[in-house]
Amino acid sequence: MRHLLHSILFVFAIQALAVNPIYFPDDKTKPGDDKKAKAKKDDTTKVALVCEEHSNEAPDSTLVLFPSHDLYNTWDTNTVHPYNFYESFKQDSVVLSLIQEGDSGFSMPVKGLVTSEFGWRRYRPHFGTDIDLETGDQVVAAFDGMVRIAKMCNGYGNCVILRHNNGLETVYGHLSEILVEPGQAIKAGSLIGLGGNTGRSYGSHLHFEIRYLGQALDAQDFIDFETGTLKKNEFVLHKSDVENKYDLRATHARHKRDIGLARTDYKKYGKNGKSRTVKVRKGDTLARIAKRNGTTVKAICRKNGFKSTKKLKAGQRIRV
Ligand SMILES: [Zn+2]
Repeated sequence: MRHLLHSILFVFAIQALAVNPIYFPDDKTKPGDDKKAKAKKDDTTKVALVCEEHSNEAPDSTLVLFPSHDLYNTWDTNTVHPYNFYESFKQDSVVLSLIQEGDSGFSMPVKGLVTSEFGWRRYRPHFGTDIDLETGDQVVAAFDGMVRIAKMCNGYGNCVILRHNNGLETVYGHLSEILVEPGQAIKAGSLIGLGGNTGRSYGSHLHFEIRYLGQALDAQDFIDFETGTLKKNEFVLHKSDVENKYDLRATHARHKRDIGLARTDYKKYGKNGKSRTVKVRKGDTLARIAKRNGTTVKAICRKNGFKSTKKLKAGQRIRV
């Protein structure tokens, strides 16, 4: 049965490989790393192809075992985030039940202080919430789910990713040890690894993420990290929240553009709003300057504190 399960998982790995992986700098999956990743992928593809031939003999859709398969259609145990939220999410919002009858509820992955929140860091996005811990501390699953990724993943270091029935995935990064393997069913609160300082990490901590269709969400919108409890049993994800809040690259780009525009305004108009200085040319009159700069004599006089009979000298600077 275990062998069969792995065969099935490999088949889904093939489908997932057809999708272009998204590049998340926080994962340290830099374009330069592509060669290494490609070599690894090619290995998996070979295995997958063999398994697919094998599984073609007895296709059985009831053997689709991974959580939330209707939503994802893929089960990729190699690529960290093989999804594209905007391509997959076509509705305005979705209601996600965080606690369902018969499941084990919620558990804090590790209890500790939040040392870094979800948001834009100086040069890059931070898609997770960092929780302080000591190397060797036990890290447990937040919700019931199945292990999709359990391996070293560049910036994440030793990393476990769980897929949950509601479509969410939770990510546990920088572990010193991984104690689970892909395909394993996990209950909330059960041990998945030990905390550490692997990958892009400075000091032992857990990097914890909540994602939906690959889109990182702010875990602090789900969890009160001080009390270690869920804020609500249901989470409504709005596409507009992704666009305005969770899509850190898009919001950062917009912010930068706004700052850029503000600078242009400053250069053009000076700090007192719509005002700038120009040089008076030989033979200029106030009327001519006003016309040339799209303003009026009255406005120029007001900005410069002089009367319209003011005598101008060539080379003099006045506000327009
Ligand atoms: Zn982090």
